[in-house]
Amino acid sequence: SIVYLNGQYMPMEQASISPLDRGFLFGDGIYEVIPCFNAKPVGFALHMQRMQDGLAELGIKLSTTLAEWREIVEQLLEANGKGNLGVYLHVSRGMQPKRSHAYPSEITPTVFGFAFEIGDSPSSNPAQVKTFRAVTEQDRRWRRCHIKSTALLGNIMHYHQGQQRGADEVLLFNEDQQLTEAASCNVFMVKDGVIATPELDHQILPGITRHLLLAILRKDGRFKVEERPISLDEVLSADELWLTSSSKEVAPIVSLNGGPVGSGQPGPVWEQAQTLFSAHKYDY
Ligand code: PLP
Repeated sequence: SIVYLNGQYMPMEQASISPLDRGFLFGDGIYEVIPCFNAKPVGFALHMQRMQDGLAELGIKLSTTLAEWREIVEQLLEANGKGNLGVYLHVSRGMQPKRSHAYPSEITPTVFGFAFEIGDSPSSNPAQVKTFRAVTEQDRRWRRCHIKSTALLGNIMHYHQGQQRGADEVLLFNEDQQLTEAASCNVFMVKDGVIATPELDHQILPGITRHLLLAILRKDGRFKVEERPISLDEVLSADELWLTSSSKEVAPIVSLNGGPVGSGQPGPVWEQAQTLFSAHKYDY
Protein backbone atom coordinates (compact mmCIF):
# COMPACT_ATOMS: atom_id res chain seq x y z
CA SER A 1 0.00 0.00 0.00
CA ILE A 2 0.98 3.63 -0.46
CA VAL A 3 1.45 5.60 2.74
CA TYR A 4 2.09 9.23 3.67
CA LEU A 5 5.07 10.18 5.82
CA ASN A 6 6.19 13.75 6.52
CA GLY A 7 5.05 15.29 3.26
CA GLN A 8 5.80 12.36 0.95
CA TYR A 9 3.91 9.39 -0.47
CA MET A 10 5.74 6.06 -0.69
CA PRO A 11 5.24 2.28 -0.48
CA MET A 12 4.73 1.10 3.12
CA GLU A 13 8.05 -0.83 2.98
CA GLN A 14 9.94 2.40 2.38
CA ALA A 15 8.42 4.32 5.27
CA SER A 16 10.80 4.47 8.20
CA ILE A 17 10.71 6.32 11.50
CA SER A 18 13.54 6.77 14.02
CA PRO A 19 13.43 4.60 17.16
CA LEU A 20 14.04 7.88 19.01
CA ASP A 21 10.65 9.14 17.84
CA ARG A 22 8.62 10.04 20.92
CA GLY A 23 5.68 8.22 19.41
CA PHE A 24 7.71 5.00 19.70
CA LEU A 25 9.37 5.71 23.06
CA PHE A 26 6.44 7.29 24.93
CA GLY A 27 3.29 6.86 22.85
CA ASP A 28 3.51 10.67 22.64
CA GLY A 29 1.05 11.29 19.85
CA ILE A 30 -2.50 11.57 18.58
CA TYR A 31 -4.28 9.52 15.93
CA GLU A 32 -7.54 9.31 14.00
CA VAL A 33 -9.25 6.63 11.95
CA ILE A 34 -11.64 7.97 9.31
CA PRO A 35 -13.96 5.45 7.63
CA CYS A 36 -14.37 6.05 3.88
CA PHE A 37 -16.86 4.14 1.74
CA ASN A 38 -16.32 4.33 -2.02
CA ALA A 39 -13.73 6.97 -1.16
CA LYS A 40 -16.28 9.12 0.71
CA PRO A 41 -15.18 10.01 4.27
CA VAL A 42 -17.67 9.90 7.16
CA GLY A 43 -17.41 12.83 9.60
CA PHE A 44 -14.18 14.19 8.12
CA ALA A 45 -14.35 17.67 9.72
CA LEU A 46 -15.34 16.18 13.09
CA HIS A 47 -12.39 13.78 13.03
CA MET A 48 -9.99 16.60 12.19
CA GLN A 49 -11.42 18.84 14.90
CA ARG A 50 -10.85 16.05 17.44
CA MET A 51 -7.28 15.70 16.20
CA GLN A 52 -6.73 19.46 16.57
CA ASP A 53 -8.14 19.32 20.12
CA GLY A 54 -5.80 16.44 21.01
CA LEU A 55 -2.75 18.15 19.53
CA ALA A 56 -3.59 21.35 21.42
CA GLU A 57 -3.93 19.41 24.67
CA LEU A 58 -0.52 17.80 24.15
CA GLY A 59 1.04 21.09 23.05
CA ILE A 60 2.11 19.61 19.70
CA LYS A 61 2.37 22.44 17.18
CA LEU A 62 1.45 21.48 13.66
CA SER A 63 0.48 23.96 10.96
CA THR A 64 -1.37 21.46 8.70
CA THR A 65 -4.66 23.07 7.61
CA LEU A 66 -8.00 21.31 7.18
CA ALA A 67 -7.58 21.61 3.39
CA GLU A 68 -4.13 20.00 3.60
CA TRP A 69 -5.47 17.12 5.70
CA ARG A 70 -8.23 16.67 3.16
CA GLU A 71 -5.63 16.49 0.40
CA ILE A 72 -3.66 13.83 2.32
CA VAL A 73 -6.82 11.76 2.81
CA GLU A 74 -7.82 12.15 -0.86
CA GLN A 75 -4.33 11.16 -2.04
CA LEU A 76 -4.28 8.09 0.21
CA LEU A 77 -7.71 7.03 -1.08
CA GLU A 78 -6.66 7.62 -4.69
CA ALA A 79 -3.35 5.76 -4.31
CA ASN A 80 -4.97 2.78 -2.57
CA GLY A 81 -7.81 1.98 -4.95
CA LYS A 82 -10.64 4.30 -3.79
CA GLY A 83 -12.65 1.46 -2.26
CA ASN A 84 -13.91 1.05 1.28
CA LEU A 85 -10.91 2.19 3.27
CA GLY A 86 -10.15 3.28 6.79
CA VAL A 87 -7.69 6.16 6.74
CA TYR A 88 -5.38 6.16 9.75
CA LEU A 89 -3.69 9.50 10.54
CA HIS A 90 -1.01 9.77 13.21
CA VAL A 91 0.92 12.74 14.56
CA SER A 92 3.65 12.17 17.11
CA ARG A 93 5.62 14.91 18.83
CA GLY A 94 8.62 13.83 16.76
CA MET A 95 12.19 12.60 17.05
CA GLN A 96 14.62 13.97 19.61
CA PRO A 97 18.39 13.27 19.82
CA LYS A 98 18.22 11.58 23.21
CA ARG A 99 15.51 10.07 25.35
CA SER A 100 14.13 12.59 27.82
CA HIS A 101 10.69 13.05 29.37
CA ALA A 102 10.68 16.83 28.85
CA TYR A 103 8.88 18.14 25.76
CA PRO A 104 11.72 19.48 23.57
CA SER A 105 11.19 23.06 22.42
CA GLU A 106 12.74 22.47 19.01
CA ILE A 107 11.07 19.43 17.52
CA THR A 108 9.31 18.61 14.25
CA PRO A 109 6.20 16.44 14.55
CA THR A 110 6.13 13.16 12.66
CA VAL A 111 3.02 12.88 10.46
CA PHE A 112 2.07 9.45 9.15
CA GLY A 113 -0.99 8.17 7.29
CA PHE A 114 -2.07 4.94 5.67
CA ALA A 115 -5.24 3.35 4.34
CA PHE A 116 -6.56 -0.14 5.07
CA GLU A 117 -9.45 -2.21 3.72
CA ILE A 118 -12.59 -2.07 5.84
CA GLY A 119 -15.10 -3.92 3.66
CA ASP A 120 -18.69 -2.82 3.19
CA SER A 121 -20.37 -0.50 5.65
CA PRO A 122 -21.74 -2.62 8.53
CA SER A 123 -25.16 -1.10 7.87
CA SER A 124 -25.16 -1.89 4.13
CA ASN A 125 -26.72 -5.32 4.63
CA PRO A 126 -29.10 -5.45 7.62
CA ALA A 127 -29.83 -9.13 6.93
CA GLN A 128 -26.22 -10.01 7.78
CA VAL A 129 -25.81 -7.98 10.92
CA LYS A 130 -22.74 -8.63 13.02
CA THR A 131 -23.65 -9.06 16.68
CA PHE A 132 -21.33 -8.71 19.68
CA ARG A 133 -20.74 -10.48 22.98
CA ALA A 134 -19.48 -8.31 25.82
CA VAL A 135 -18.29 -8.74 29.39
CA THR A 136 -18.06 -6.15 32.17
CA GLU A 137 -14.78 -5.04 33.76
CA GLN A 138 -13.51 -2.35 36.10
CA ASP A 139 -12.10 0.52 33.99
CA ARG A 140 -8.38 0.59 34.79
CA ARG A 141 -7.28 3.18 32.23
CA TRP A 142 -5.97 6.69 32.90
CA ARG A 143 -8.07 9.78 33.60
CA ARG A 144 -7.50 11.44 30.21
CA CYS A 145 -9.54 9.10 28.06
CA HIS A 146 -10.95 12.06 26.09
CA ILE A 147 -7.55 12.36 24.36
CA LYS A 148 -7.22 10.06 21.35
CA SER A 149 -3.69 9.15 22.34
CA THR A 150 -1.63 6.61 20.43
CA ALA A 151 -0.72 5.20 23.87
CA LEU A 152 -3.45 2.56 23.91
CA LEU A 153 -1.94 0.08 26.37
CA GLY A 154 -4.83 0.43 28.83
CA ASN A 155 -7.33 -0.15 26.05
CA ILE A 156 -5.60 -3.12 24.48
CA MET A 157 -5.11 -4.82 27.86
CA HIS A 158 -8.85 -4.51 28.49
CA TYR A 159 -9.58 -5.74 24.98
CA HIS A 160 -7.32 -8.74 25.50
CA GLN A 161 -8.99 -9.58 28.83
CA GLY A 162 -12.32 -9.55 27.01
CA GLN A 163 -11.01 -11.92 24.34
CA GLN A 164 -9.68 -14.25 27.01
CA ARG A 165 -13.16 -14.34 28.53
CA GLY A 166 -14.60 -15.32 25.15
CA ALA A 167 -16.08 -11.89 24.37
CA ASP A 168 -15.72 -9.42 21.50
CA GLU A 169 -15.71 -6.30 23.68
CA VAL A 170 -15.48 -5.16 27.28
CA LEU A 171 -17.88 -2.71 28.94
CA LEU A 172 -15.91 -0.64 31.44
CA PHE A 173 -17.16 0.77 34.76
CA ASN A 174 -15.54 3.41 36.95
CA GLU A 175 -15.06 3.19 40.72
CA ASP A 176 -18.64 4.37 41.27
CA GLN A 177 -19.86 1.46 39.11
CA GLN A 178 -20.91 3.82 36.35
CA LEU A 179 -20.48 2.92 32.69
CA THR A 180 -17.64 4.68 30.86
CA GLU A 181 -17.17 3.06 27.44
CA ALA A 182 -15.78 -0.08 25.80
CA ALA A 183 -12.13 -0.84 25.00
CA SER A 184 -12.51 0.49 21.45
CA CYS A 185 -16.07 1.86 21.23
CA ASN A 186 -18.64 4.06 22.93
CA VAL A 187 -21.71 2.44 24.47
CA PHE A 188 -25.44 3.17 24.22
CA MET A 189 -28.25 1.62 26.26
CA VAL A 190 -31.99 1.34 25.61
CA LYS A 191 -34.52 0.94 28.43
CA ASP A 192 -38.29 1.25 27.95
CA GLY A 193 -37.77 2.94 24.59
CA VAL A 194 -35.42 5.63 25.94
CA ILE A 195 -31.86 5.78 24.53
CA ALA A 196 -29.05 6.72 26.92
CA THR A 197 -25.28 7.10 26.72
CA PRO A 198 -22.71 8.44 29.23
CA GLU A 199 -22.04 12.18 28.93
CA LEU A 200 -18.70 13.46 27.63
CA ASP A 201 -15.93 13.91 30.19
CA HIS A 202 -12.36 12.75 30.82
CA GLN A 203 -13.54 9.15 31.26
CA ILE A 204 -14.49 8.52 27.62
CA LEU A 205 -13.38 9.27 24.09
CA PRO A 206 -15.70 11.77 22.36
CA GLY A 207 -16.52 9.28 19.61
CA ILE A 208 -17.43 10.68 16.21
CA THR A 209 -19.95 7.89 15.66
CA ARG A 210 -21.47 8.70 19.06
CA HIS A 211 -21.68 12.38 18.05
CA LEU A 212 -23.24 11.58 14.65
CA LEU A 213 -25.72 9.12 16.13
CA LEU A 214 -26.85 11.58 18.82
CA ALA A 215 -27.29 14.35 16.24
CA ILE A 216 -29.21 12.07 13.88
CA LEU A 217 -31.47 10.66 16.63
CA ARG A 218 -32.25 14.14 18.00
CA LYS A 219 -33.00 15.56 14.59
CA ASP A 220 -35.29 12.62 13.84
CA GLY A 221 -37.02 13.08 17.18
CA ARG A 222 -38.84 9.78 17.48
CA PHE A 223 -36.83 8.61 20.52
CA LYS A 224 -36.03 10.30 23.80
CA VAL A 225 -32.23 10.54 24.02
CA GLU A 226 -30.27 11.15 27.22
CA GLU A 227 -26.59 11.83 28.01
CA ARG A 228 -26.23 10.96 31.69
CA PRO A 229 -24.50 8.67 34.18
CA ILE A 230 -25.50 5.01 33.70
CA SER A 231 -25.07 2.50 36.51
CA LEU A 232 -23.92 -1.10 36.28
CA ASP A 233 -27.39 -2.23 37.45
CA GLU A 234 -29.02 -0.34 34.58
CA VAL A 235 -26.64 -1.91 32.07
CA LEU A 236 -27.32 -5.39 33.47
CA SER A 237 -31.08 -4.90 33.05
CA ALA A 238 -31.01 -2.97 29.73
CA ASP A 239 -33.40 -3.88 26.91
CA GLU A 240 -30.68 -3.18 24.34
CA LEU A 241 -26.97 -2.32 24.38
CA TRP A 242 -25.07 -0.96 21.39
CA LEU A 243 -21.44 -0.31 20.58
CA THR A 244 -20.55 2.65 18.36
CA SER A 245 -17.30 3.25 16.51
CA SER A 246 -16.08 4.32 13.11
CA SER A 247 -15.53 0.72 12.03
CA LYS A 248 -18.59 -0.87 13.70
CA GLU A 249 -21.03 2.06 13.20
CA VAL A 250 -23.97 1.14 15.48
CA ALA A 251 -23.60 -2.50 16.54
CA PRO A 252 -25.88 -4.58 18.77
CA ILE A 253 -24.53 -6.38 21.84
CA VAL A 254 -26.61 -9.54 22.20
CA SER A 255 -24.86 -11.14 25.15
CA LEU A 256 -23.41 -9.71 28.37
CA ASN A 257 -21.34 -11.77 30.82
CA GLY A 258 -22.67 -14.88 29.08
CA GLY A 259 -26.38 -14.06 29.43
CA PRO A 260 -28.74 -12.53 26.83
CA VAL A 261 -29.22 -8.77 26.46
CA GLY A 262 -32.99 -8.28 26.19
CA SER A 263 -34.29 -10.99 23.87
CA GLY A 264 -30.75 -12.03 22.92
CA GLN A 265 -31.35 -10.67 19.40
CA PRO A 266 -30.66 -7.21 17.91
CA GLY A 267 -33.46 -5.03 19.27
CA PRO A 268 -36.16 -3.01 17.49
CA VAL A 269 -34.73 0.36 18.58
CA TRP A 270 -31.27 -0.64 17.28
CA GLU A 271 -32.82 -1.55 13.94
CA GLN A 272 -34.33 1.92 13.57
CA ALA A 273 -31.20 3.67 14.89
CA GLN A 274 -28.86 1.91 12.51
CA THR A 275 -31.21 2.56 9.57
CA LEU A 276 -31.25 6.25 10.49
CA PHE A 277 -27.46 6.24 10.92
CA SER A 278 -26.88 4.67 7.56
CA ALA A 279 -29.23 7.18 5.87
CA HIS A 280 -27.73 10.30 7.51
CA LYS A 281 -24.08 9.56 8.38
CA TYR A 282 -22.80 11.87 5.62
CA ASP A 283 -25.00 14.79 6.72
CA TYR A 284 -22.51 16.19 9.26
N1 PLP B 1 -13.81 4.77 22.48
C1 PLP B 1 -12.57 4.32 22.26
C2 PLP B 1 -11.71 4.00 23.43
C3 PLP B 1 -12.09 4.19 20.94
O1 PLP B 1 -10.83 3.75 20.70
C4 PLP B 1 -12.94 4.54 19.86
C5 PLP B 1 -12.48 4.51 18.48
O2 PLP B 1 -12.15 3.62 17.85
C6 PLP B 1 -14.24 4.95 20.14
C7 PLP B 1 -14.63 5.09 21.46
C8 PLP B 1 -15.20 5.32 19.04
O3 PLP B 1 -14.83 6.53 18.42
P1 PLP B 1 -15.20 6.84 16.91
O4 PLP B 1 -16.69 6.75 16.80
O5 PLP B 1 -14.71 8.23 16.72
O6 PLP B 1 -14.51 5.84 16.06
